[in-house]
Amino acid sequence: MGTVMRVTLPTEETPALRAAVQACFARFEQVDQTMSEWKPGSPVAELNRQAGRAPVKVPEELWGLLETAQRISAASNGAFDVTWAALWGLWQFTDASRPPSRDDVASRLQHVGWKRLRLDAKARTAYLPERGMAVGLGAIAKGHALAMAALELRSRGIQDFLLDAGGQVYGGGMKGPGQPWKVGIREPRGGPEDSFAGLALTDASISTSGDYERFFVAEGVRFHHIIDTRTGSPARGARSATVVASDPTLADACSTAAFVLGAPGGLEFARKMGVDLLLVDANNRVHMTPGMKARLLWSHPPRD
Ligand code: ADP
Ligand code: MG
Repeated sequence: MGTVMRVTLPTEETPALRAAVQACFARFEQVDQTMSEWKPGSPVAELNRQAGRAPVKVPEELWGLLETAQRISAASNGAFDVTWAALWGLWQFTDASRPPSRDDVASRLQHVGWKRLRLDAKARTAYLPERGMAVGLGAIAKGHALAMAALELRSRGIQDFLLDAGGQVYGGGMKGPGQPWKVGIREPRGGPEDSFAGLALTDASISTSGDYERFFVAEGVRFHHIIDTRTGSPARGARSATVVASDPTLADACSTAAFVLGAPGGLEFARKMGVDLLLVDANNRVHMTPGMKARLLWSHPPRD
């Protein structure tokens, strides 16, 4: 998933805890193997290979995640869309990158559309009905991996832990008596360690989608990795979107959707999904749902 995962347990190390952490990493690895569109042998790669050919029987775990993805696509009016991956490779993010041509974007965009991804609940199959269609789970798989890792720890009786996967964190239980886990929200125009606000996290996950993770600048315009599937180009409404939710899978997907929707659409969407949202819009203005306002600890406004 292109990220580093860190597990923190606020207790002294024992062989049982060490084994639990190993199991956690193994679970994360297994999700990566199943959900990656890059790994040639993965079920997602197989689904993409069979586009326009045949429905593919997929593992239960993948089928469930695809169903969740479709639910979020419907709720976000397609702002979140795993079939964005028909555009895969068109946008490259190196310092020397250039935007692709309009024609290239237009011809690939024909094959984007979540409504055409068919899931058969009875047969447990998924089907992409056209050559050129593809699924990419980059905006939801990490959240699912965090959910699975949390389950793994809890199944071993561990309630207090912090799981950190780069742009997304899950806080289980507490750091200590009366001491919840605390996490910062990154400055969109700062370094990886700079935050402009923070909040307490207990049995909840925080996910930020930002225009600073993977991007290039050409003629003064920032091109980044979160695509507005209406245009086939990077979404323009936000610098970052941060979602807090008890379900990490939901937090991950909703932060991407809210990023694409911008303000006010992202706030309406968050309300509908029952998650908290903080959005830094393209003009560096901050928008929040009431629930986010109530829990946020401000340091200073984000730098311009
Ligand atoms: P990160 O991976 O940096 O944590 P996100 O969770 O927001 O950030 O996911 C961004 C990734 O999601 C992109 O790299 C791409 O793989 C995929 N993606 C891009 N645009 C969309 C979209 N509109 N809907 C769903 N997935 C997308
Ligand atoms: Mg996401």
